Amino acid sequence: MSTAIVVGAGIGGVTAAVALQRRGWQVTVLERAPELGEVGAGISVWPSAVAVLEELGVKGVEKAAALSKPAGMRKPTGRWVVEAADLGVELPVMIHRAQLHDLITDQFGPGITVRTGYTVTKLTQDETGVTINDDLRAELVVAADGIRSVIRRALYPEYEGPKYSGYTAYRGIADVPIDDGGGETWGRGQRLGFARLIDGRIYWYATANQPAGQGGDHATVCKGFGDWHDPIPAILAGTPPEAVLQNDIYDLAVPLVPFVQGRVVLLGDAAHAMTPNLGRGACSAIEDAGALARHLAEPGSLGTALAAYDRDRRPATTKLVKRSRGVGRAGQVENRVVIAIRDGLFAFGGKLVSLRRRK
Ligand SMILES: Cc1cc2nc3c(=O)[nH]c(=O)nc-3n(C[C@H](O)[C@H](O)[C@H](O)COP(=O)(O)OP(=O)(O)OC[C@H]3O[C@@H](n4cnc5c(N)ncnc54)[C@H](O)[C@@H]3O)c2cc1C
Repeated sequence: MSTAIVVGAGIGGVTAAVALQRRGWQVTVLERAPELGEVGAGISVWPSAVAVLEELGVKGVEKAAALSKPAGMRKPTGRWVVEAADLGVELPVMIHRAQLHDLITDQFGPGITVRTGYTVTKLTQDETGVTINDDLRAELVVAADGIRSVIRRALYPEYEGPKYSGYTAYRGIADVPIDDGGGETWGRGQRLGFARLIDGRIYWYATANQPAGQGGDHATVCKGFGDWHDPIPAILAGTPPEAVLQNDIYDLAVPLVPFVQGRVVLLGDAAHAMTPNLGRGACSAIEDAGALARHLAEPGSLGTALAAYDRDRRPATTKLVKRSRGVGRAGQVENRVVIAIRDGLFAFGGKLVSLRRRK
């Protein structure tokens, strides 16, 4: 039986483990955290990632709930810029990260061994396999160890690494009875979005321009967004302050080339961390995992399969990293004239798409 080590048990790593297991691989998952799990926030899962999860037998990632109220983009006053219904766009499933992680790990069978509290610090490879920490060995290593990947640093010593976007992000979950379709509100150098999770709670996220490392908390968010349109004040008031997450936003702005070095393949944020503006980072990791297992199942050598994975996933994710950074740049603008032009262009674009759809 072919053997693989997956380094990192984030959404990318656990999906890769399930995908490889289904293709008959014996998988060891190494995770430095003492327990498997995910942070307390929501996540958007777009149809392409839902399709991969369904193919892997992951149940419970239901289709997006039908909205009774409009969703889309607003100004802080509440005035609509674009309504999603006009665009006819498919909406993602919104789910709690921990719930998604559990649904995936529920598929772990006897083909998967998990070692938590295990930090990978070293890796060497030869023609027959890869050795981790002079301790474990497998034919294939999947590096799913996130944006600060140790494996990427070891294999690409010249690569410059994550780049700061110029803004930080806050996330929280509120259990409040609101009747609103949600969406995003774009202000001046700051944005706030919210959506209903499939468990009924409200997940919100917000961004603000600031230097890396400045920090911030629930009080900072209330100060910055507390006077925005309804129901934002109620959502913030209904959020447990101690559960608010704050993360400075980085991405791998310079594309990593290639995603494969010998018998080691990079996946998810380790390969192509993107800003969260499109809500596609974890979805891309899920799609990477599906693609990797599919290529490994094709006839041919390991090298051929990994090269096919690289050809398949690198162009698509490189585009997403760039698009996501661009959306962030537009969303974080502070100049009032540029904001007026931006919002006007969005509104005009929305009307054009809507007209075309009606025709
Ligand atoms: C504010 C914000 C909002 C987001 N919203 C969305 C969204 O709505 N939709 C979406 O698709 N994406 C979203 N993303 C992106 C998404 O969170 C990431 O793309 C995704 O979590 C990456 O998964 P991963 O498995 O590649 O890496 P990670 O989740 O970072 O997992 C890496 C794992 O590796 C472990 N690890 C690291 N180093 C080692 C080591 N040396 N040894 C052993 N274990 C190690 C870590 O402990 C961790 O468990 C968002 C990101 C942010 C910051």
